Amino acid sequence: MIVRVRFHGRGGQGAKTASRILGTAAFNAGHFIQDFPVYGAERRGAPVASFTRFSDEEITERGFIFSPDVVAVMDDSLIVDPLANPLAGLRKGGCAVINTTKGADAVGGARKDVVVVPVALTEQALKFLGKPVLSAGIAAAVARVSGIKEESLLAGVDEELREVGLSEDMVKRNLEFAKSIYGELAPLKLKTEELPGKEELVPLALVVSGEGTEDVTRTGNSTVRHTGNWRTFRPAIDYEKCTDCMICYAYCPESAMSVGSDGRVKIDYDNCKGCMICLTECPLRAISQTREGGLQ
Ligand code: SF4
Ligand code: SF4
Repeated sequence: MIVRVRFHGRGGQGAKTASRILGTAAFNAGHFIQDFPVYGAERRGAPVASFTRFSDEEITERGFIFSPDVVAVMDDSLIVDPLANPLAGLRKGGCAVINTTKGADAVGGARKDVVVVPVALTEQALKFLGKPVLSAGIAAAVARVSGIKEESLLAGVDEELREVGLSEDMVKRNLEFAKSIYGELAPLKLKTEELPGKEELVPLALVVSGEGTEDVTRTGNSTVRHTGNWRTFRPAIDYEKCTDCMICYAYCPESAMSVGSDGRVKIDYDNCKGCMICLTECPLRAISQTREGGLQ
């Protein structure tokens, strides 16, 4: 039986590595496998996707997975993001593994015909790794619900994380992270059925040469596209410490800082994506970070 998994994450969370870990874990378990990401103009916090197929028979399908059996959603704010649309095409009877603290309500009742598996991955990643990188944890969650053995998973985590150059200590911590998530969940017996029609991730219309550039009209590509829900952490300025040196303002890559009529730097939370460059650059340590609560 073939299992098609589509990972949805935000740039920097480890979606590509997760698909590789799952692929290697399934390979270790004796399956035929494919794993690959969508390559594009990636940037930290932006919605990204990657894919894994595994099967006990040779896989003849190719290309992006439009009808997954399992979707792995690495940030619950992606569920309402029209560009990510992570539940699109998820087969009836399929499974949505979602990084959330909201329980099964994270999908907001959008799909009653799928199994929702909520798991608080970010909290566990912060506990084991000290940073919100979720590749080992989300791969462990999908491996568990799809019946891959723990030893195959851990061998996959070890191999893939060494290959990306992680230190011995971080590999060990990721193995502990993966073990913890694996132990929280149980395998599912999925019997999936493809939905009628096909979803496309990025439909691009043909523009005849000489007619100029097509207007960008697709949902999410406009000035009203706010990137504030990309944040895992929220910066805050302590105005008691701030000396208005404007260094954070100069470094913010999103132009999400402005100077108010009182001459003080302000953060535009609709567009701040939580990269924390401002926190790193502030010479007075006048910027702190707090964890975001999830869906906004
Ligand atoms: S965290 Fe700071 S630097 Fe990053 S987008 Fe927000 S305001 Fe700008
Ligand atoms: S870098 Fe720090 S001190 Fe300077 S304006 Fe920003 S918050 Fe204030």
